[in-house]
Amino acid sequence: MSNLFYQAQGRRPVLEQARGVYMWDKDGKRYLDGSSGAMVCNIGHSNPEVLTAMRRQMEKSTFGYRLHFETEASERLAQKLAGLMPGDLNRVFFVSGGSEAVESATKLARQYALASEQGSRWKVISRAPSYHGCTLGALALTGYTPLTAPFAPMMQDMPKIPAPRAYLDGLDADDPATGHYYADMLEAKILAEGPESVLAFIVEPVGGASTGALVPPNGYMERIREICTRYGVLLIMDEVMTGAGRTGSFLGSDHWQAQPDIVVMSKGLGAGYMPLGAVIADERLVVPILAQGGFAHGFTYAGNPLACAAGLAVVNTLEMNGLCDNAAKMGETLLARLNGLMQKHELIGDVRGKGLLTAFEFMADRDSKAPLPARLNAHQRFVDLAYAKGLIIYSRRTRDGTEGDHILVCPPLIVNAEHIDEIIEGLDASLVQFSQDIHSELKA
Ligand code: PMP
Repeated sequence: MSNLFYQAQGRRPVLEQARGVYMWDKDGKRYLDGSSGAMVCNIGHSNPEVLTAMRRQMEKSTFGYRLHFETEASERLAQKLAGLMPGDLNRVFFVSGGSEAVESATKLARQYALASEQGSRWKVISRAPSYHGCTLGALALTGYTPLTAPFAPMMQDMPKIPAPRAYLDGLDADDPATGHYYADMLEAKILAEGPESVLAFIVEPVGGASTGALVPPNGYMERIREICTRYGVLLIMDEVMTGAGRTGSFLGSDHWQAQPDIVVMSKGLGAGYMPLGAVIADERLVVPILAQGGFAHGFTYAGNPLACAAGLAVVNTLEMNGLCDNAAKMGETLLARLNGLMQKHELIGDVRGKGLLTAFEFMADRDSKAPLPARLNAHQRFVDLAYAKGLIIYSRRTRDGTEGDHILVCPPLIVNAEHIDEIIEGLDASLVQFSQDIHSELKA
């Protein structure tokens, strides 16, 4: 096979078609897309309104280079997004993916610092574990050893603070003292680095691929905001996974009083119809940059009218069909059902999530929180078992990527109660088989 894309995981069936929450391979086998691809297809597959909007745009134009033309599609999407953002976040810069969005946000922050006589600021603090993308700039912010270690000599070492994993540290996530405990690590890091050198803090409001739907403890987000304001550090909300309704509100950060200075979005914005991402920045950051000649940055395909027309139709579909509310409602049902599975299957050590960004984590022992031995490759084996039963889910190692296993269950936001039943049945049957296999191997 010459296509290097597909070589890592071994062969998978060939995709034939996809509709709503279902996908079919060439042999006619049906799969329920329980992870929306990689938390991408928020409005489900082959939505007719989005396809119509794309067709209409294709008949007009598919590309207009941004230095030659403005396009109605990109302007309309920019205005739509600005209207959905908090405060004065009304300047939108388009890109084609999440890593590009993160890179762009950090470069925008740096240019703002230069344009506002804060040129000593360049460090971007992030959390570990975290995932912010795979290009070298975004990877430098990522806290996930297997992905970062091979490239360490090629990257700028950026400061990290621990992600607030109260469940592992034995702390009560409902107690605001817990949120403050973790947030104060940001202040300590800013002071240790020298506040005049710190440009920004980047955070996933609900953790994604690296931490598995990690919901911040009470008090955390508000305190993070306060600390950033106190030290003039920009708060960048990485909403690549949480944005576009995934957690039950348009932005994940809408759940807290923690207004970002910059938001980055991607996955659910293009929703699998087109590669699309956006950086949405506070007006006050962009004005000085424009006064000095503009943002010295841009990607060739960025803001192309076809991607923007698809994105606009996606956001309209989210709104018209009340999908944020559906995600909140169905998310509660899903979380309750996952907790039910935890009562039945002792290998599940934790269940967590917000909206339809939910996960469970395997543990060898719930009391000590000991992970399953890494050699068992538990998360991949579980994904394969579910896949054989026609259920697609998403998994990663959870503790800095070296051990621990979490499974993300994140169906499209159009799911109904019957789909949730089907997901739970698929997980339950897979867990029965998984538990037998793992227990016999642990004894061996
Ligand atoms: N940030 C977050 C929070 C993500 O989840 C991802 C993708 N998993 C990215 C950035 C990078 O996005 P992309 O893969 O589109 O480059």
